[in-house]
Amino acid sequence: MYLLEMNHIKKSFDGQGVLKDISLAVEEGEIVSIIGPSGSGKSTLLRCATMLERMDSGELLYLGEKAAWNGPDGTAVYAGKEKQKEIQGNYGLVFQNFNLFPHYNVLKNIIDAPIHVQKRKSEEAVREAYDLLRKMGLEDKAEAYPCQLSGGQCQRVAIARALALNPKILFFDEPTSALDPELTGEVLKVIRSLADLQITMVIVTHEMAFARDISDRVIFMADGLIVEEGTPEEVFASNNERTQNFLGRYG
Ligand code: ADP
Ligand code: MG
Repeated sequence: MYLLEMNHIKKSFDGQGVLKDISLAVEEGEIVSIIGPSGSGKSTLLRCATMLERMDSGELLYLGEKAAWNGPDGTAVYAGKEKQKEIQGNYGLVFQNFNLFPHYNVLKNIIDAPIHVQKRKSEEAVREAYDLLRKMGLEDKAEAYPCQLSGGQCQRVAIARALALNPKILFFDEPTSALDPELTGEVLKVIRSLADLQITMVIVTHEMAFARDISDRVIFMADGLIVEEGTPEEVFASNNERTQNFLGRYG
């Protein structure tokens, strides 16, 4: 059974097709990178996968459970609120711009959802938060506020915050593209360390060396379509002209 399954996803904005029949299935433990030019629909795909955006039609499943499917008229129907909430417990999302709460310190950013959404015990959430901060190399930053941290530190807090909810799958949308180049490495290192923990990941990235290195599978998107997918070796050595053009610019 797949952890995530997306079948024939279509999404338009203002009549303009942004996702044009995308199908994607991710197995437990798999690391999938999505690469492709700006505007090709990568963020929209992640937003549809995480139900931040409603797709027009298609099927979305987590662990075989349907979050959305096509109704009789061929447009997407979503599961009820309660079911959606339950399904949302399967995944976390890390954004380009961290999206930390600026008025909460680091610790509170991490423990807020475990306590208020998952109703976990406060002491337990705090203990786990410190554990995660240690893993992120931020054990001394629990009391700091986001504005006192570097971008790389903020992104590591955002990763800790996502992990605190014990997701089965983590989505990353260009996790390093808002960072100064010298801070990119520390965030990539943390993401690499998650791979060692066998966390399933779907990563949209422009860091080609990283994608090549970390992924079990690479997907190249352009114009709302999956142009090519395969192992990093296959995709990076592809003869496809569009893939080569893109890699020539970024690789
Ligand atoms: P990528 O992440 O690959 O750069 P996006 O998914 O952000 O691509 O965007 C794909 C296309 O969809 C772009 O042309 C973008 O302008 C458009 N788009 C994305 N979100 C919206 C929105 N909320 N409203 C209108 N157009 C959108
Ligand atoms: Mg994007």
